[in-house]
Amino acid sequence: MRKPLVAGNWKMNGLQDTNHHLLELLKKEGIENIGEPVEIVVCPPFIYLAYIKHLLEGSNMKWGAQNVSHHSAGAYTGEISPYMLADLGCHFVIVGHSERRTLYGETNGIVAKKFVAAQQANLTPILCVGESLREREEGITERIVKEQLDDIFLHTDIHAFNKAVIAYEPIWAIGTGHTATPDQAQEVHGFIRNYLSEQDPEIAEELRILYGGSVKGDNAAELFAMPDIDGGLVGGASLEAKDFLTICQAAS
Ligand code: PEP
Repeated sequence: MRKPLVAGNWKMNGLQDTNHHLLELLKKEGIENIGEPVEIVVCPPFIYLAYIKHLLEGSNMKWGAQNVSHHSAGAYTGEISPYMLADLGCHFVIVGHSERRTLYGETNGIVAKKFVAAQQANLTPILCVGESLREREEGITERIVKEQLDDIFLHTDIHAFNKAVIAYEPIWAIGTGHTATPDQAQEVHGFIRNYLSEQDPEIAEELRILYGGSVKGDNAAELFAMPDIDGGLVGGASLEAKDFLTICQAAS
């Protein structure tokens, strides 16, 4: 039985005061009443992780990071190691977000190294995969997603997916307001699960696959109702307490 997961990717937004206010609002609106049925995570910018840890300890919300180095320590100016994230109580880290891939040149190979490094530090990577609009129009969505997964298998094997989450995030849906329809999303989620199940049906069955791309309070329920959609990776709407709460409730 897969436990739904909703992860908020705050991206490069918020300051100490606004972060505090957002979390207070979520608590006031009743996020803690959701309890165990949904795993809820927020991923603030690195610099606020220690503060968020302080605010969230003892609540039903976990915290994670938006990126990580694939090195464990050393002369890598400006980078953050997976062990540092674990040291701050992070459970999750997003790897391979499309903004990292397109704006910072992260290749499938780099993403795969980050995935493995995160697991070595006992973090659960949330591996983002997804196609661009051009790739969808060319009809090569499955090929692109398959390639993104295959690079992981150059560095590790299917057992790595015992402790990982995949987020299918079509690039054309991220931050655009153009959500994939539940059928469009389910088609790719089903493909991912089937593809991994060729290697290990049990691991594929237990793996959580999130949908990301303009998930909002008013479309989350229909997306999460699809059989292979196990929650969401939420950008913009995770900064709005009411919207994020509605999304978490939809996942429960
Ligand atoms: C994201 O950043 O992962 C994302 C899905 O953003 P948005 O919800 O704003 O489309």
